[in-house]
Amino acid sequence: MPEISPDPFAAQLRAAAVKVTRPRLRVLAVLSRATAALTHSELEEQLADSPQGILDRVTLYRVLDSLVECGLAQRTLDARGVYRFLSSSVQARHAAHAHFHCQRCGGITCLEQMEVPVADLPAGYSARQVDIEVRGVCAACAPLSGAA
Ligand SMILES: [Zn+2]
Ligand SMILES: [Zn+2]
Repeated sequence: MPEISPDPFAAQLRAAAVKVTRPRLRVLAVLSRATAALTHSELEEQLADSPQGILDRVTLYRVLDSLVECGLAQRTLDARGVYRFLSSSVQARHAAHAHFHCQRCGGITCLEQMEVPVADLPAGYSARQVDIEVRGVCAACAPLSGAA
């Protein structure tokens, strides 16, 4: 098996000082394609659909832990208490605008027209991240909530 690869994900793993392994490359590739944070089961489904086939659950959990630990991915708890994973490069791309978080389906929609303002902080404070999240019910879920 060739160890050297021009894969940009391999470069990301090396830059984060993490060993380049096939499962890590696969999970990072799926996370980087995603437009929103994915749950374990969504990740499992996407991996199962790929040409290399399913990745066993234990390996997936270990890979996600290592990616979160080295900073290449971020883990958040959604409104339903389910962990979701997002690649840090995707997170950086989404950091400039607000998001809509549907409290019914857990879906996240980009609100690209809503820019995140620059934080106005007291002296001595430094901001690492500003998130603007609007919570409510998305268009797909709205008819369901009206039916009740
Ligand atoms: Zn929804
Ligand atoms: Zn976004």
